[in-house]
Amino acid sequence: MAIADALSRNEDGIATALGILAQRFGERFSTSAAVREQHGHTTTWITNQPPDGVVFVHSTEEVAEVVRVCAEHHVPIIPFGTGSSLEGHLNAPAGGVSIDLSAMNRILAVHPEDLDCVVEPGVTRKKLNEHLRDTGLFFPIDPGADASLGGMASTRASGTNAVRYGTMKDNVLNLTAVMPDGAIVRTAQRAKKTSAGYDLTRLLVGAEGTLGVITELTLRLQGIPEAISAGVCSFPDVESACNTVIATIQSGIPMARIELLDTLQMRACNAYSKLDYPEAPTLFLEFHGTTAGVKEQAELFGEIAEEFGGGNFSWTTHQEDRAKLWQARHDAYWAAISLRPGTKAFATDACVPLSRLADCVRGTMDDIAELGLIAPIVGHVGDGNFHVSALIDMNDPAELEKAQQLSARISARAIGMDGTCTGEHGIGQGKRAYLEQELGPALDVMRAVKRAIDPQNIMNPGKIIRL
Ligand SMILES: Cc1cc2nc3c(=O)[nH]c(=O)nc-3n(C[C@H](O)[C@H](O)[C@H](O)COP(=O)(O)OP(=O)(O)OC[C@H]3O[C@@H](n4cnc5c(N)ncnc54)[C@H](O)[C@@H]3O)c2cc1C
Repeated sequence: MAIADALSRNEDGIATALGILAQRFGERFSTSAAVREQHGHTTTWITNQPPDGVVFVHSTEEVAEVVRVCAEHHVPIIPFGTGSSLEGHLNAPAGGVSIDLSAMNRILAVHPEDLDCVVEPGVTRKKLNEHLRDTGLFFPIDPGADASLGGMASTRASGTNAVRYGTMKDNVLNLTAVMPDGAIVRTAQRAKKTSAGYDLTRLLVGAEGTLGVITELTLRLQGIPEAISAGVCSFPDVESACNTVIATIQSGIPMARIELLDTLQMRACNAYSKLDYPEAPTLFLEFHGTTAGVKEQAELFGEIAEEFGGGNFSWTTHQEDRAKLWQARHDAYWAAISLRPGTKAFATDACVPLSRLADCVRGTMDDIAELGLIAPIVGHVGDGNFHVSALIDMNDPAELEKAQQLSARISARAIGMDGTCTGEHGIGQGKRAYLEQELGPALDVMRAVKRAIDPQNIMNPGKIIRL
């Protein structure tokens, strides 16, 4: 479905900029239909709106060069990481140039003594962790896709570990970015904390490429814990699972991961990942600490779960079993799609204060039943964050309409509970109306910031806010 937008194309400017970039970048500039389409939105229900050209950059200076050409000719710029975003973030409603940062994938420095590293934006989270393997350190943010760190910063991503280690907003120490006029700025130094001026790092984190192009990031790292254990526990119903999560977090057990999968999602994971867990609402868990600490945490959790009817709680410190469990969790999206072959997932996420989690998930399940949709639920529930993937035939307008209704109801319910229409996927094109509902007058302040930094509205126009 195409999203209506009042943005118009600057045909002459685009043609001129494309000519300049083609000459300057040669084979690293493409206008092929396949490449352009792959750089628009490809993951969900939102119709692909490709850019006019794609430039594959190698350095901050090259990004600045491209931005200056586009600024001079009033041409939109859409930064591209790995293309895994879910809300139409990469579409080019007014055309323009996609800057593909995937070849900027060097790990520039690791400072084990300071627990940080410096990377280019095209490094993916898996590549960083492979590089860190022998250092005793790791980078904890793990969205389901192997996304780029520049893209993850730009969507303020999180994942299964956020309950313990925070989201991208907590783990980026500074950024280098090319601003809409081509200026190159570094937002902070490498110190762990600073009260020096406006927090430009956090302004750019979550900006979805609408304020500048990130070309370098300094990230916090964590020490790999002495012991890690993982567990699985099934429940009679989703409320019992959610209430266990609430009690566990309130009791102060420092959960590293606590993930909910509903009955349908468990059926999908069992089939897709060749597991044989009970087909019931289930929590996947992970505990980090000393050997004695993880044992104690697991036992405490087991006691709480039992109070809420949790059964079959088993836990292991065995590396291979843990890896299998979390691979299944990370494959949950693909497992869900395989429940109804030929369909695509209309994926949405919401986040509420933890005390409202059970109510919000129950209300969502009632909506799914009422609308007659097949829509498994998974969630990083330790944060009050959950995802729903409605499996629909994208060519069937009635199904699409129902999925949109579901997404609208989930957002409205979460906002009504003092929560948010997106805990981690971002706004892009798809959730702009919900952002209006959620923050109302604050959007005028966002518009003022956007106009001040990007007066020509060339940085990823049509995303987050309508100007
Ligand atoms: C199977 C699956 C599971 C997922 N699970 C999660 C999850 O658990 N948690 C979660 O948070 N998300 C999840 N996502 C969504 C997605 O992976 C994240 O939004 C991710 O952060 C996007 O990174 P990317 O590199 O793919 O960025 P892209 O999709 O390429 O870009 C995303 C946005 O960031 C901008 N951007 C990209 N790079 C830069 C840059 N260097 N400078 C400025 N702007 C830039 C783009 O213009 C765009 O607006 C999932 C997606 C899929 C397909």
